[in-house]
Amino acid sequence: MRLGEAEFVGAVREPGQAPPTRLPQIAIIGRSNVGKSSLINALLGRKGLARVSRTPGRTQEIHFYEVGGRFCLVDLPGYGFAKAPAEVRQRWEPLIQSYLSTSRGLAGVILLLDSRHGPSKDDRRMLDFLARLELPTLFVLTKVDKLSRGKRKARMEETRELLEIPEDQLLATSAVSGEGTKSLGDSVLAAVEEA
Ligand code: GDP
Repeated sequence: MRLGEAEFVGAVREPGQAPPTRLPQIAIIGRSNVGKSSLINALLGRKGLARVSRTPGRTQEIHFYEVGGRFCLVDLPGYGFAKAPAEVRQRWEPLIQSYLSTSRGLAGVILLLDSRHGPSKDDRRMLDFLARLELPTLFVLTKVDKLSRGKRKARMEETRELLEIPEDQLLATSAVSGEGTKSLGDSVLAAVEEA
């Protein structure tokens, strides 16, 4: 099923600020440069809707995109960018944590992991945080076009084992080839239906 037209409806810039939507929300998060903006654009079928950053770690706002009048895709700032100044990091961590722990409309979270690397310390921290909140989480390995079929399979199995992810909660995607984006869209809609 197609997700429908996507429209930017607003941003949250301060911890505690109310989300600019009444629709159920699916948040998407990952470390800087994981390929989040590219995947959002591929998923929503619109180039340039989410900005593909040249300088990772710059976005410090939470962006809301209403999709097909049914749900809101929430683009959280990328975490774990080592070069970001301490005061910038201190601003966005409370922003992310506040949104995730207080938004009543949050139906689930998509955690992105770069398929070329194992999970980082920051990925594990985020995972622990999400687990504590008991939010339904879908895991996505990004940029799989960069891996051979064999490596891809091995990385999927390794990730599932390492992070104890059930089989149906791990997907592999490529914003370049479009692979996996339809499955991701279907999973997102299923999570919205369930909420
Ligand atoms: P963000 O910081 O997580 O939003 O990541 P971006 O979407 O800005 O992507 C970071 C870099 O990875 C850019 O140079 C993208 O062109 C590249 N990239 C993103 N997705 C893919 C993908 O699926 N395949 C490949 N080969 N490169 C990608």
